[in-house]
Amino acid sequence: MSVLIICYHNINKNGMITPEIFEKNIKLLIEKKYYSATLDEVYNYINGKKTLPDKTVHLTFDDGYKDNYSEAFPILKKYGFKATVFLITSQVGLLGHLNWEEILEMQDSGIIDFESHTHSHPRYFLMKPSKQELIDDIMLSKNIIKGNLKKESKYFCYPYGEYDELYVDVLKSAGFLGGLTLDIGSNDINQNPYLLKRIDARGPEKWLRNRLVIYSNQFFSKIYEKVYKKI
Ligand SMILES: [Zn+2]
Repeated sequence: MSVLIICYHNINKNGMITPEIFEKNIKLLIEKKYYSATLDEVYNYINGKKTLPDKTVHLTFDDGYKDNYSEAFPILKKYGFKATVFLITSQVGLLGHLNWEEILEMQDSGIIDFESHTHSHPRYFLMKPSKQELIDDIMLSKNIIKGNLKKESKYFCYPYGEYDELYVDVLKSAGFLGGLTLDIGSNDINQNPYLLKRIDARGPEKWLRNRLVIYSNQFFSKIYEKVYKKI
C-alpha cells in the first residue's frame, strides 16, 4: 500500500479548482473509501511505526491562500477531512493570504495543521542561496510559526518543488522531520521522509478519478512516476 498526498493551492470559483470541484474531490475520496490521514500518521507509516488503511490520502495546500479559509475549510469541516497548509510566513496577513486569526481558527478545529513553506518562497535553483541564507530563511519561518501558533513546525514544503542534497541537510539540521516535493507519485513504506511525493490537483473532476485508478495499482503507478517525474 502507498499513501497518496494531493497538492492544492487556491480553491476559488475563478481558478482551476473551484469549491464545487474540491467538494466533488472529497466526495469521490469518501465514495472510494479513502482514509484521511494526518501528516504525522503518514510520517509514522513510512517509518514503519504505524499501519494505515490500504487506501490512505492526505491533503495539502501550498502558499496559505485566503480561500483556504473561506472556501476549503468549510468543506473540510463538513466531511472531517484533515489537511496541512504550508505557509509562506512573509505573506501571512497580506491581501489574498490567510491572516493569523484565520490560521488559529483553522488550527483549533483540530483537522488543519500549519507547517513551513519558507519565509520568502525563493526560487532555489535560480537564486542559489548560500547554506547560511537558506538556514536563515527557513529558521525565520519556523520561529514565526512557533511564535504565533505555539507549536514546532515539523514538516516543510520545498517552494516550486526545488531541492537538492544541501537543502535536505539543512532541513534535518533545522529539526524538520520531513519535506514535501512536487515529485509525482505516491509514498510507499520506507519512502525518504524528506522527499515525499505528491500529485498536483487539476480540474475537472475526472482528473482525480483517473489518478485514483493509477495510484491504486502499483504497476501503473511506478510507470506513471517514471514517465512524468515532476508535477
Ligand atoms: Zn509555493
